[in-house]
Amino acid sequence: MTGPSQSRRRVGILGGTFDPVHNGHLHVAQQVREKLALDKVLLIPTGTPPHKAGRRLQDARHRYAMAIIACHNLRGLEVSDVEVRRDGVSYTIDTVNLLAERMPGTDLFLILGADAAAEIHTWRNAERLIMAVNPVVVFRPGFPVDSSITALEGRIAPDAVDRLLGGCLEIEPVDISSTQVRDRLAAGEPVNGLVRHKVEEYIRSNGLYGVLPD
Ligand code: ATP
Ligand code: MG
Repeated sequence: MTGPSQSRRRVGILGGTFDPVHNGHLHVAQQVREKLALDKVLLIPTGTPPHKAGRRLQDARHRYAMAIIACHNLRGLEVSDVEVRRDGVSYTIDTVNLLAERMPGTDLFLILGADAAAEIHTWRNAERLIMAVNPVVVFRPGFPVDSSITALEGRIAPDAVDRLLGGCLEIEPVDISSTQVRDRLAAGEPVNGLVRHKVEEYIRSNGLYGVLPD
């Protein structure tokens, strides 16, 4: 009684720098998993670029470790090391192709906050990427979904824009960013409620983000 459509797995992908992973990331991953009945969501921290103008990212080893700690005990949330294992920054299209190859019979759902979706035209092979996955776009405070996507009109093909619009998913908004967490840590302000307790412990015991080690 097993047909091919019955056995297809549904896996979400949430890529990011996770510098550090915060409760907004976890909330998005859990909400999308529940609403779309996904088997699991993979958090995929990016590798660390060797040199890049602008802010230096925390070492991939730490960002990955914090993601693992954050997902502990959260059903259906896992962390993939596929990008941190590669040197430098990976292109999402390459990651998606690799995962598709490794997980045959799986439908991949690419989860994007509206701020990330608004920039997708700058990503490598953006249109091919959007067509290769089921995009899921969620609201982020300050970034309304509809206007973030319609701003892409004329920058990517209309069918790609339509696909993003079709992938809009309403979830409860959570106003947390890694920038806010880093700023608060550096200023000596509390971050409880913004990151999981064990993540905060990891940050403090490793003296990350300008925090004095214990
Ligand atoms: P930073 O402030 O350093 O940019 P960030 O909080 O934006 O960090 P990222 O690692 O850049 O976190 O984000 C990874 C993915 O998670 C992106 O698609 C982003 O849009 C999404 N995301 C992060 N925080 C939220 C949130 N609070 N609500 C919805 N989506 C979010
Ligand atoms: Mg960001």
